[in-house]
Amino acid sequence: MTASIYLVKGREKSLRRRHPWIFSRGIDRVEGKPELGETVDVYDNKGEWLARGAYSPQSQIRVRVWTFNKNEAIDVNFFVNRLNAAQSLRDILAARDGLTGYRLIAAESDGLPGITIDRYQNYLVCQLLSAGAEAQREVLIEALQQCYPSCNIYERSDVSVRKKEGLKQRTGVLHGEEPPKFVTIEENGVKINVDIVGGHKTGFYLDQRDSREASVKYVNGKRVLNCFCYTGGFGLYALKGGASEVVNVDVSQPALDTAQLNAEINGYPVENAQFVNADVFKLLREYRERGELFDVVIMDPPKFAESKSQLVGACRGYKDINMLAMQILKPGGMLLTYSCSGLMDNGLFQKIIADAAIDAHRDVQFIERFSQAADHPLDSAYPEGFYLKGFACYVK
Ligand code: SAH
Repeated sequence: MTASIYLVKGREKSLRRRHPWIFSRGIDRVEGKPELGETVDVYDNKGEWLARGAYSPQSQIRVRVWTFNKNEAIDVNFFVNRLNAAQSLRDILAARDGLTGYRLIAAESDGLPGITIDRYQNYLVCQLLSAGAEAQREVLIEALQQCYPSCNIYERSDVSVRKKEGLKQRTGVLHGEEPPKFVTIEENGVKINVDIVGGHKTGFYLDQRDSREASVKYVNGKRVLNCFCYTGGFGLYALKGGASEVVNVDVSQPALDTAQLNAEINGYPVENAQFVNADVFKLLREYRERGELFDVVIMDPPKFAESKSQLVGACRGYKDINMLAMQILKPGGMLLTYSCSGLMDNGLFQKIIADAAIDAHRDVQFIERFSQAADHPLDSAYPEGFYLKGFACYVK
């Protein structure tokens, strides 16, 4: 018998708007003894069926909804249907941007809470982030094999959020072959080597693709500083766009080595690029002391705020690096700046840039806005899916 969750009166409203989360405080009573990740039926207080989802007894988000359709069972067919729907959008984007790597499943935003799947050529890289996702592991793998018979499947569930769900970290081959050292993907005519096993996340930051492409129009003939470059990212696009010089900075030497290799495999003029192993916070201060100036500064730091309690500190961090970036820009320079902290909304980020401008004693105009790439879609029922934001700032 499927366990039943009855909601506190009034708590059904967000579900009727097809929002996929039920918080622990929204639950009135549980009938049955659902286990970690087990599929449960959700009812309003009067007993009307609302949704079917996965039970996460250790998480504040107690249920994540799989379906709002009473006739839909959570089986291989369910996952096949979700995968096919997501693939249809990616087919459009792959044709539009020349992609051989993209996010195939963006969790809640693609109707599969707790599951992300990135595709790099014929490698599918999965992250199972919730108890529900973990419980469906075998079913999901079967569905993936059915939809992608020629693909290898690899797991990179080495993410801290699994702890909140009572799950251990897991990585390794789920089907097919171990990934080679690099799988080479292409986006917007740029080749990128992706280290699936050892790279950050699933290997690459696919979510910045649209912003990388947008940056190309600002760099021709310019001296560009690419902060937090990872495996090249914006720096590769800067070379594609004809930058006269690109200084790429990161603290990870393997990432910098791959960045250089990526410049080479594209046939870009590597002599115009530098790959600097340094802490951005320190290096920018040194540049300021030395009076070193750039035409374009790209600022794409890692997530500074993992939880609400870290938000104040994160604001300080964002303000500091953006102030420093403005101070080392020539008059009339361009700052391309981003925040991937979901807890920081667009308005707050804009305010931080404004504060940085005051401290830097520079006049700043916002001339373009960015968000996560289109293969990380924003579902209308799930606004939390918006996390990556950015601005092109003209710094007078
Ligand atoms: N812009 C990249 C993604 C950046 S991810 C792209 O388009 O692909 C963030 C990067 O910041 C990681 O590579 C990490 O190694 C690096 N990093 C984290 N803290 C840093 C610091 N203090 N100084 C320099 N790099 C840092």
